[in-house]
Amino acid sequence: MIYLDNAATTFIKPQAVTEAVMNCIRFECGNPGRGAHAISLAAAERIYACREALSDFFGVGAPERVIFTLNTTHALNLAIKGVLGYGDHALISELEHNAVRRPLYALAAQGVQFDVFPVVGLDTEAILRGIRERLTPKTAALITTHASNICSISLPIRAIGALCKEKGIRLIVDAAQSAGHLPIDLRDMQISALALPAHKALFGIQGCGALLLAEGMDPKPLLEGGSGVDSAPLVMPNEPPERYEAGTLPTPAIAGLLAGLNFVRSLGLDEIRRRTEALFLAARERLLSFRDLELYQADAVGSVLLFNHRQIPSTELARTLDREGIAVRAGLHCAPLAHRALGTPAGGAVRLGFSSLNTPEEIDALYSVLRRIV
Ligand code: PLP
Repeated sequence: MIYLDNAATTFIKPQAVTEAVMNCIRFECGNPGRGAHAISLAAAERIYACREALSDFFGVGAPERVIFTLNTTHALNLAIKGVLGYGDHALISELEHNAVRRPLYALAAQGVQFDVFPVVGLDTEAILRGIRERLTPKTAALITTHASNICSISLPIRAIGALCKEKGIRLIVDAAQSAGHLPIDLRDMQISALALPAHKALFGIQGCGALLLAEGMDPKPLLEGGSGVDSAPLVMPNEPPERYEAGTLPTPAIAGLLAGLNFVRSLGLDEIRRRTEALFLAARERLLSFRDLELYQADAVGSVLLFNHRQIPSTELARTLDREGIAVRAGLHCAPLAHRALGTPAGGAVRLGFSSLNTPEEIDALYSVLRRIV
């Protein structure tokens, strides 16, 4: 089977990740922070090591400001609902996933307003102009994806961070598609909160994500419950991470995330980029050789390539590819707003998501299979 659905989740994991998860389950999986015995302490130590590694890699500068969540969506809900309230205004990009749009839509019922700024086809200056034009005195947060999940457009986060800083606005970044692909430094880019998944390009397993909080970014907790410390009061502890981490953490998934992050660090982001861009360019060249295929925003080179056959609906093409042993994803990819911005038809399009563990031979195989189908 050839797996080209890495933008949804990476399926082929480094062996070190599988081993780290198994070792954690077999030897370390006490309840972290809930006991003083050796197995509980082993779990807590593994979790702290992962907090430190994430803090270091993403320029947070404070391991306790790394909050573990279930996934990116959970992290985004915590950041968005934790800072926006009645009367506030927010800005989002036109490339947002429903993980950003739906929490904001839910908040709209509570008196939060939001506007959408354009991105597709624009350079950094034009994007910043679009943001400036939509700012209001009530704008409290700008929430944006770092990299689109349906094409390889990425946003100029450093420039957006500088603008948000100048205007006193919080910047919440969805790094679902960029963590593990693009360099990110929270302090350097002036990001207030960064939401990321373990299970995509950081090669961890499902069940874990993280919200990284800058100094001064202290959203309200989304959940209340046991925190393992300070059990007597009826309110959550004041300090992160316990303030936000009610209930038992997914220790095996966190152990996997640490191993995945170490894999990414040892390969290096430059090498990861070199590999995924080479796969992208090879696939783009092959797809462009078909008269009946349409590609969307394919000048933006990266790890995601979106296309359609002019006569075959995207879901049918994806199903046929699957029968031939190639896993891709079709439809709207939880991002109907982004599909509209790219001009795909109502049925969406077919997405290829590359990982640094894919090979050029797999792109050759995709080409042969597509030729047969088309
Ligand atoms: N944001 C973007 C841009 C995504 O691509 C995804 C998932 O594909 C999400 C958010 C949601 O991520 P998760 O499934 O980890 O909650």
